[in-house]
Amino acid sequence: MACDGSRWALVAHGGAGAIARGDLTAGQEAAYREAMATAARAGGAVLSSGGPSMDAVEATIRILEDDPLFNAGRGAAFTAEGRNELDAAIMDGATLAAGAVAGLTTTRHPIAAARAVIEGSPHVLLSGAGADAFARSRGLEPADPAWFFTERRWRSLERALERLGLPAPPRPAGARDAGLGALVHEEGKYGTVGVVARDAAGHVAAGTSTGGTNAKRWGRVGDSPLIGAGTYAADTAAAVSCTGAGEYFIRLGVAHRICALVEYAGLSLQAAADRVVQDELTALGGAGGVVAVGADGRMAWSFNTSGMYRARIADGVPLTVGIYKDED
Ligand code: ASP
Repeated sequence: MACDGSRWALVAHGGAGAIARGDLTAGQEAAYREAMATAARAGGAVLSSGGPSMDAVEATIRILEDDPLFNAGRGAAFTAEGRNELDAAIMDGATLAAGAVAGLTTTRHPIAAARAVIEGSPHVLLSGAGADAFARSRGLEPADPAWFFTERRWRSLERALERLGLPAPPRPAGARDAGLGALVHEEGKYGTVGVVARDAAGHVAAGTSTGGTNAKRWGRVGDSPLIGAGTYAADTAAAVSCTGAGEYFIRLGVAHRICALVEYAGLSLQAAADRVVQDELTALGGAGGVVAVGADGRMAWSFNTSGMYRARIADGVPLTVGIYKDED
């Protein structure tokens, strides 16, 4: 998918995975489409009023983090120990400033913490209890770990632990379901959220937020908070956010690789995204997808799974929401 454009543009994803036509009920499909549309519209409103791409990315991701349909913030996947450990990153293509957090457990909006790393520390990536303490020191909203709990993700954990032959941990204290009932779809191992934007001043930004993979162990960190792997932005090329089996995205350096193909090899953004996702990622055995926006405002996405929740909106281009492979 590619779309011409020279003014503001925003593309969002809500995770890639096993999402084929017929897998979702009409109610599920409508809920995901509505959630993606609401978030993308909010980001588009920031950009259409002249706001910076970093603000649009953060605003859009905050909404998706609060939405229990997605594996980010509320609704995150659980570790094998029954915890929600949240990762996020954001990058400013104008300055190459980048901030990231891994393993947050008590911060409501990991994307806000990632952004605060840029503004309030000399570092790029903070992890674990230190990252939560940093978020508190910056006045970011705390959350009880139970805030992130959803019954659907807990069941996914129980099934995964059974397959792995691992014991089921006790349910987190105070766990209450977000009441999604039949609206949630089990998209497999994934479900991260990510947003890329190009503002009217021509600056791009990318952000990604996730609970990581279901039943992850040993302090596992995926590609999302790793600059160059799951998230990258440079005004000289593009902004990219990834979703999928993080270990493969890390090994390929997917987000930076797409930008490098645009900048140094002169590929179009869509061609670069397709080369890395359809050819290289697939050859390595990795599953997932990307959304991207070029410094020229062109939008692209590419995924090698059966579906990816996604939305795009741009100056003069109406909102489009897609789930399945055969949609524009
Ligand atoms: N890429 C994420 C990770 O590996 C998972 C996802 O995109 O759903 O942590």
